[in-house]
Amino acid sequence: MGLDIKFIKPKKKNISDKFSSNLYEFLKAKPYYDRVYWYEIDPIDGTRIQFSEECRFDISNIIIGMARDSDGVVSGRKLSSILMGVKGYKDAHCYHPIGGWDPRNFVDITDWFWDRYFKIGRCLFLDHDRTFIQDDNNTRWTYINKNSRRCNWCGEWQHRTIVKKVKIERREIWAAV
Ligand SMILES: [Zn+2]
Repeated sequence: MGLDIKFIKPKKKNISDKFSSNLYEFLKAKPYYDRVYWYEIDPIDGTRIQFSEECRFDISNIIIGMARDSDGVVSGRKLSSILMGVKGYKDAHCYHPIGGWDPRNFVDITDWFWDRYFKIGRCLFLDHDRTFIQDDNNTRWTYINKNSRRCNWCGEWQHRTIVKKVKIERREIWAAV
């Protein structure tokens, strides 16, 4: 136990950079809710998704919180709600069997998660190839020149290439046989 939240604190207050401001604020408000759980059941189609680093990694299947010793019921908040800053995101919910959350489906991924998050920050869940809201405060990229940039969060280098898109046009042609 004992995540030291100063290691995942964004540089400026309320501004996410490598680290999410909301996640930091949540942990500040709920210092004991620092375990990370993967819920193995897909909420949409009910299939079982065993956790692995390469699995269909969905932040709505991750709960930041704490499991009760007595019965394994997890309290905390969905990572997706925290990151998106939904109203009252700093409040904890109880993920109880009555609400369909079977404690047996929670897998503790605490060590893996914080280790990765400390190293690569929000690149853990924000793809590099999408642009919308991914660089909300302009802290992600250092442009070396027109064609090279480096991700300030995880250190990945990227090279720009221009891809030619060929449009396929369909046209009707009548010809003698
Ligand atoms: Zn990155």
